[in-house]
Amino acid sequence: MSDKETTDSGLEVILTTLQTSSDKETIQSIISILNELLSMGTERRIHYVISKGGSEALLQALVNSSHKYLLSGNSLQTLLHLLVKVGQKDKMIGRKAKKTQATITILNLVRKNMANPRTLTPCLWIVQMFAGSVTAGGILGRNGATELIYKLLVPFTAEHTRVIRAAAEAFAALMKSVSNSKRAVTRGYVQGLLRLYQNWHSYDIQHKYVHIRRAFLRCLDNIANTKSGRQIFWENAGMEILFHITQSCASNQSLKSILNASVQIMRKCYPRSALPTDVIQSAYNFPVPGGAHPTRTCSLPPDNLDDDSEEDVDSELENVDVEDDDLETDVEKLKTKPDPDRPRELLQSYKKFCPELFDDFQDSDSESFDRNCTKAECSSKPTGCCEVILNSHIRKGYYKEGDQRALGSKTPESFQQCHLSCPVDAIDNYTKRNGLSCSTKESGFRPRNGPNQTMDSLMSATFESNSTCTSVYQSGKQLDTCSFHSRTDCIDSTYHSQSSFSDKRETHDTVLRLLERHNEDIPFHDPSTYIATARKTASVQDYNVLAFPDFWGIIPAPYQQPMTEQKYGTLRDKIFQDVQRLLKKDDILNRLVFDLQESSLLESVEEIDTLKFFSKFESGNLRRAIQVRRYEYDLILNSDVNNIHHHQWFYFEISGMKAGVPYRFNIINCEKANSQFNYGMQPVLYSVCEALQGRPYWQRVGDNICYYRNSYVYTVETPEGSCEKPYFTLTFNIQFPHTDDVCYLAYHFPYTYSTLMTHLHLLGKSVKQKKVYFRNQSLCNTLGGNPCPLVTITALPKLKSQQNVHQFRNRPYLVLTARVHPGESNASWIMKGTLEFLLSDDPAAELLREMYIIKVIPMLNPDGVINGNHRSSLTGEDLNRQWSQPSPTLHPTVYHLKGLLHYLNSIRRTPLVFCDYHGHSRKKNVFMYGCSIKETLWQSGSSINTASLKEDIGYRTLPKVLSKVAPAFVLSSCSFQVEKSRESTARVVVWREIGVLRSYTMESSYCGSDQGKYKGLQFGIKELQEMGAKLCIGLLLLNKNSLPYNKAVFPQMMKLLTLEDDILDHRSFSNEYIEEEPPCPEEIDFNSCFIYEEEFADIEEELEESSSDSEDTETTSELQASSD
Ligand SMILES: [Zn+2]
Repeated sequence: MSDKETTDSGLEVILTTLQTSSDKETIQSIISILNELLSMGTERRIHYVISKGGSEALLQALVNSSHKYLLSGNSLQTLLHLLVKVGQKDKMIGRKAKKTQATITILNLVRKNMANPRTLTPCLWIVQMFAGSVTAGGILGRNGATELIYKLLVPFTAEHTRVIRAAAEAFAALMKSVSNSKRAVTRGYVQGLLRLYQNWHSYDIQHKYVHIRRAFLRCLDNIANTKSGRQIFWENAGMEILFHITQSCASNQSLKSILNASVQIMRKCYPRSALPTDVIQSAYNFPVPGGAHPTRTCSLPPDNLDDDSEEDVDSELENVDVEDDDLETDVEKLKTKPDPDRPRELLQSYKKFCPELFDDFQDSDSESFDRNCTKAECSSKPTGCCEVILNSHIRKGYYKEGDQRALGSKTPESFQQCHLSCPVDAIDNYTKRNGLSCSTKESGFRPRNGPNQTMDSLMSATFESNSTCTSVYQSGKQLDTCSFHSRTDCIDSTYHSQSSFSDKRETHDTVLRLLERHNEDIPFHDPSTYIATARKTASVQDYNVLAFPDFWGIIPAPYQQPMTEQKYGTLRDKIFQDVQRLLKKDDILNRLVFDLQESSLLESVEEIDTLKFFSKFESGNLRRAIQVRRYEYDLILNSDVNNIHHHQWFYFEISGMKAGVPYRFNIINCEKANSQFNYGMQPVLYSVCEALQGRPYWQRVGDNICYYRNSYVYTVETPEGSCEKPYFTLTFNIQFPHTDDVCYLAYHFPYTYSTLMTHLHLLGKSVKQKKVYFRNQSLCNTLGGNPCPLVTITALPKLKSQQNVHQFRNRPYLVLTARVHPGESNASWIMKGTLEFLLSDDPAAELLREMYIIKVIPMLNPDGVINGNHRSSLTGEDLNRQWSQPSPTLHPTVYHLKGLLHYLNSIRRTPLVFCDYHGHSRKKNVFMYGCSIKETLWQSGSSINTASLKEDIGYRTLPKVLSKVAPAFVLSSCSFQVEKSRESTARVVVWREIGVLRSYTMESSYCGSDQGKYKGLQFGIKELQEMGAKLCIGLLLLNKNSLPYNKAVFPQMMKLLTLEDDILDHRSFSNEYIEEEPPCPEEIDFNSCFIYEEEFADIEEELEESSSDSEDTETTSELQASSD
């Protein structure tokens, strides 16, 4: 026998003896041996003893000895201390106590020692430990523990604080059991606990008894998990009591734990309610063809929002490790390529989308190239290859006849009756008040980087260092005579078709005046083209107002913006403000100031101090705005069309503001459980005043940003029955840069369908016609009647020799898509970067065009984008879940793109790469998801032997290359697993059905980067566009063996190719996937139950103290002596 085995068996023998012996001496000496053993050494020693059955032995010894009154005094205390020491490390101690019936024993000991603090205190600790198991707590409660321990707490006394603390903590633990909580409620203990908490707060001026105060809060917190508990708390002014106490000590750092616990209780007890019924369903309704599509029904939560269950369920029983069962483990399903989802004959109709394969370059001269390559077909008729349902009211157009006359002959056609929201108030006011109205207060806005030359010369103005608005309007003297609308007029004429002729004319004049001032420095944007394009865009609501940023244009901000740091206590302060709404009802305005469906509201809201909201424009989303307090607004987002969910994307206009005032905005119907808004992300703002001064930027703005669960709930029907789900609030404060400005706020940098169409049109015009093959076709029309553009880019054959044309036609295909999810506007900015790079003069772009034929579908869900959806199309469905069986009527863009891919497949031209651009709301950086059989099986823990499976690891190359060349891209977040829940996404279907090995989803954070060059920065438009260009470099390096020699690009290529060895070394490939963000430090735990260890952290100290107390006693020394 080795030494270790000797000790093993030795310990086991001791423990067995302890468990079975009824001899006082034996028990005493074993206890002292164990005491000796555990008084030294580390925690590991305790766990070792537990693993050998130490807890059971000690519990049994306690039961046995108390039956027969074997132990008393110091030896009983030593046993109790040992039990505390071992029990607090043993998560199963409650259940073990239940088994050995030690629960009853300990209660009897408490009863007998009510007046004997030295024995009572450890007994209370043990009760607390036992009650960690809810079922054991329930047994204790049924046997009178609740009443017994409550007696130790009342009436208020500051004597025996150690006992009081232990009793309050034991009571709190007992309250984890619903039945115990209910008992406490019926016996009126909640009132008592509140009073005691108040007493302790008043008594403890020196903050010496914070732990006792915290223990009382824990009691209330656990009771607040039951409906009756919350109700009685509310009825007994619990909210007021906690609120006032927290207000009186909110600034005290040492009371953090008390403040946080109080806030948690107040949030739990805040009465839950449903949102007003009429905002659940989308304000926009689109009749789905066939009417067969199930409309989402919604049910509102019942009045009695009771989540109390009668049973006490042990939470630790539910903590079973969950394996990722979403991964596809069916090898056959992973390996087998299914048959095409349509007959082969149908595929021939997609030939027209590959004109590059059939153009006869032999007969053509350069002119016909030009014609082929620059013709923009997007605005032409539907291609006829699909069934398109034209909604008559959508197609009727915005612009009525006769308006053109008003504008005179010089007016371009496109300016017909264009209503524009612009800060005419600001301009009017300014000119009226001679330079005094526009605030010059800098409120958190970056100082600009110097005057814009073009604007400068246009305005002949001098920009002063500290004024933000003045100079433009001084220089704008020329505008004095021009009749700008007041803002309300502008909106009036928008809403009322009967508005006077001259009103319209004035609006047109406004537009013309504005255009005269446009600095025309925005690449690939032109306001006139935008207006012309937007006219053709069909929306469910017939938008006839343009949002200024989309019309005027956007340039990337010339600086980068760091992520914001969430200050500790921000959430707490917001909650205090929310609680005040309940307690000081008189201060609350609750005034509806905007509703998407009630335009008359806008007229009535003419009061000073009231912001004006508007969202009825392309990609706009805001359903309702309620003024809560003077500078605080609740905002409700519109659901996706034909849906009741997906509130995340927002984009709306605000006017009527004062500069420098912190306005608080709360978007109260968010649905996701967490958000990057808790981790440094800010919403974006565009100021018209700033734009008119040459700074047409979207900027990240806002402070005091929090995203938290609120008191609104909704009910979802699941197969298991209905369940209640919470809404979340996104809250932020904004100080606007100018008084009476018009500003736009959005979730992320907006990018409308009309912006895309304008961009494609101008890109097409810019193309070098002798070199670049560029075709802009319409893949099909959407349900809403909008063409879905399909762009083809490659290089024209240099000479029209047979050989060159052959090379041209045999270039591999790349297919890039974006914006299937309308709220993911970041995908569009990346796509913009890709398109501009692909058509640029960069030698790498030239090379890329010579190597590939690139097909781009930049917006797979135009209708969703136009109508301000976040996730779905007009049918209310997620188009990226329809790839398995897309319907030609309901999902035309997906159906026809899949058809085109099948066609390429059928002519043996399967694309080399397919990449679908997306946005990600929970992670940082840019990364990719791909598909791999082996990685899926490995990760799923499947027992299938993957050694015999052959798999091309080429899917890894592109992400690896990108991680080297694109600063925003990070490899460690990439994943190549095939999930069952994703089996109908573009990535998986294109991989499995079309057989594209490199089929990816590229995800870009809405927030920013936490690594590399951009670490700590939020993404701006510049970084997103750069990512789009870098993806092209990645695609170029993918096929480096077939890179033709090119003098211009050679040095650049060499530099990039030195990365090659590293890139191709798959051993360095990381398999560590970055976890999602940790929970927010202040986030509420609604399931309550504080973490086990934390609860006992203080007992550890106490135990130390009490052991050192007892060391003074002679008995202990005797025991020690005898054990020697
Ligand atoms: Zn997406």
